[in-house]
Amino acid sequence: MQGNNKSVLILGGGLAGLTAAKRLTDRGFSVTLLEKRSIYGGKVSSWKDEEGDWIESGTHCFFGAYDVLYDLMREIDVYQSVLWKNHRLTYTLAGGKSFTFNTWELPSPLHLVPAIVNNRYFTFREMLSFSKSLIPLALKKDKYPPSQDHLTFSAWAKQHKFGDRLLEKMFRPMALALKFAPPEEISAKIILDVTEAFYRIPGASCMGFLKGAPQQYLVGPLQEYSRARGARFFPGAAAEMLLYEGGEVTGVRLANGDVLSADYYLCALPVHNLNRVLPVSLKQEQTFFGNLDKLKGVPVISVQIWYDRQITPEDNVLFSPDGVIPVYADLANTTPDYKVLRGKPHIGKSRFEFCVAPAKELMSLSKEEIIDRVDRNIRSCYPDSSGGAKILKSTLVKIPSSVYAPLPNMEQYRPTQRTPVSNLFLAGGYTQQLYYDSMGGAVMSANLASEEISRAAEAI
Ligand SMILES: Cc1cc2nc3c(=O)[nH]c(=O)nc-3n(C[C@H](O)[C@H](O)[C@H](O)COP(=O)(O)OP(=O)(O)OC[C@H]3O[C@@H](n4cnc5c(N)ncnc54)[C@H](O)[C@@H]3O)c2cc1C
Repeated sequence: MQGNNKSVLILGGGLAGLTAAKRLTDRGFSVTLLEKRSIYGGKVSSWKDEEGDWIESGTHCFFGAYDVLYDLMREIDVYQSVLWKNHRLTYTLAGGKSFTFNTWELPSPLHLVPAIVNNRYFTFREMLSFSKSLIPLALKKDKYPPSQDHLTFSAWAKQHKFGDRLLEKMFRPMALALKFAPPEEISAKIILDVTEAFYRIPGASCMGFLKGAPQQYLVGPLQEYSRARGARFFPGAAAEMLLYEGGEVTGVRLANGDVLSADYYLCALPVHNLNRVLPVSLKQEQTFFGNLDKLKGVPVISVQIWYDRQITPEDNVLFSPDGVIPVYADLANTTPDYKVLRGKPHIGKSRFEFCVAPAKELMSLSKEEIIDRVDRNIRSCYPDSSGGAKILKSTLVKIPSSVYAPLPNMEQYRPTQRTPVSNLFLAGGYTQQLYYDSMGGAVMSANLASEEISRAAEAI
């Protein structure tokens, strides 16, 4: 630990802000964190409703590729709370059919052979034309996806002629699950990057779930780690404006009018919130900040439904191309602590959590209308087991601006963690790092921002 006596004010208590609080406290900085909500965790937050049931901002799957997240979880002793599921991706279709991509425990790319030859849905011809489209990816590796950022994934797929069925049934739910945006909007770079990671790293597409609520197994322990080491946390403290004078940030004005100052400022806010606290003069002065207006958040809705019976025994993440539930899971199977309803055991019965997307057109609908759409979707995927099933409880969370929208040509506007202002730094899933806007991305951005702040402090 360095005892450097320098202070850092962190705005935002999501995964990026909390990770930075840990990293900077470990390095001997005096850390204060402001969070506008009464709870921490941002997009990975969870809370108990009035009936004692955990509600989550959204289903969070832990991808095998997020090494930086697992390093962090080991450091705070919660890694054992990730329950790794069988290495397979299952797609459920309207009418009750499904198909599965399995993998083998073999070095890359042989691990993908069963997915290509034995998924029992796509023909060998379809998989062959798809495999051909990946030749540039295999040859140029990580250099290839950035060169395709100008195209939507649909446009890229059309150029490579691998057929509508693969696009609609496999890649539509994948795009919606990853970034809540459909293939005709999402940049080809994102899907190609993820495909490249799945191709190169055998465990990258393996999924894990937490044993229970993120608040208990990730967010709470992460905050407690830094609090116990002297970091100060202020919930319900919304930053209103960064004060900027003489080429430096001089303080932060809060919504209640208080002004706080520190040696360094780290904004770990979603990009739409960052845009509100940046002074207009700074945006006009520096294109680095002015460009951030180009990054927008994607809407998404999370729905939970408890049924009076088990609809599926599947203990893993599930995808569905047909309807508005591209990715979902039966938490009563995946998440042991969640076999409960209103304080009573909910065993042998389903408790689904759905990511509902694309959500743009659905945001104005009532809770009842959205639940009805989701309920009809899930019944169409499981016509036999859902017959006569009754809904015991449903909940809904609308997030108008969630992760940043990775549309074509947006990559160039993602900022680095270091900014042109010497005492102002950025962290968050939207900033430049390997994993996009994800838990891995939030942690990596915080690691990079903390390194930059340490470097700035050492340079004095
Ligand atoms: C429905 C859903 C499902 C997801 N599923 C997955 C998944 O399966 N796997 C995965 O890896 N990722 C998933 N993600 C993405 C992941 O949750 C995010 O990428 C990550 O949590 C972003 O963390 P962050 O700290 O950058 O931002 P945030 O979590 O948005 O944190 C920012 C914080 O800043 C606070 N804030 C905002 N304005 C102010 C202000 N003015 N003053 C003070 N505080 C402020 C916010 O309240 C928030 O707590 C999902 C996201 C959603 C919405």
